[in-house]
Amino acid sequence: MANEALDRWLRELWERVAWRCPEFEVVLPGAASFVCQAAGCPAHCCKVFTIVPLGEREVVRLSRASGLQPLELVECEDGEPLTHRALPAARPYFLARHDGVCRFLGRDLLCVQHEGRPDACRVYPYYVFFFDTLAGLPVRAGLDDMATAIGGLCGWQRPPAGAVLAPLLLRHAECPGLTGPPLGREEWLNLVGETFRLQYGEPLEHGERP
Ligand code: SF4
Ligand code: SF4
Repeated sequence: MANEALDRWLRELWERVAWRCPEFEVVLPGAASFVCQAAGCPAHCCKVFTIVPLGEREVVRLSRASGLQPLELVECEDGEPLTHRALPAARPYFLARHDGVCRFLGRDLLCVQHEGRPDACRVYPYYVFFFDTLAGLPVRAGLDDMATAIGGLCGWQRPPAGAVLAPLLLRHAECPGLTGPPLGREEWLNLVGETFRLQYGEPLEHGERP
């Protein structure tokens, strides 16, 4: 599918489903890129999100980077890590908070553990959500089906006849950091692939294009 046709198809899909995702905006090639405005940001993400999910691998990474013990990094009760039923099985813990904000948010509103920060922080403000193109509904799909849909998008193809799963790259509308130069197509493709990898915790196959 030609670039323009792919963009038009994604935009038309978004126009059908946008009302279901009022906190988000679609990101297509040519959209402004992200430059964090932390120093003067009124919608500071690290204050707003009360649950930042963490998996075992992220706890180890953050523990190494911070020098803190794993139980100091996650919310605990009676010395045991709390889990949340709304979180995916691969990321059952959530990041510890102090005084209502993330414990790693510095006074200058910058992250004091930037190197070790969780994937959820790395991916923000972007998300890849998947939609049933026939019903116009957001769907939860298996990892293989999602990876196939991402591969199709990155291979410049419309999903084959009968396929109903399509990914859209979205961004959190409240983040004021989308002020950078326009995303080129390659940058956009890389962003789709990296966002998918961070959000769903599974790298694309070696050699497969994001
Ligand atoms: S909301 Fe956006 S601009 Fe503000 S601190 Fe978070 S990432 Fe940066
Ligand atoms: S770990 Fe850093 S980036 Fe993530 S919520 Fe905390 S302060 Fe923000």
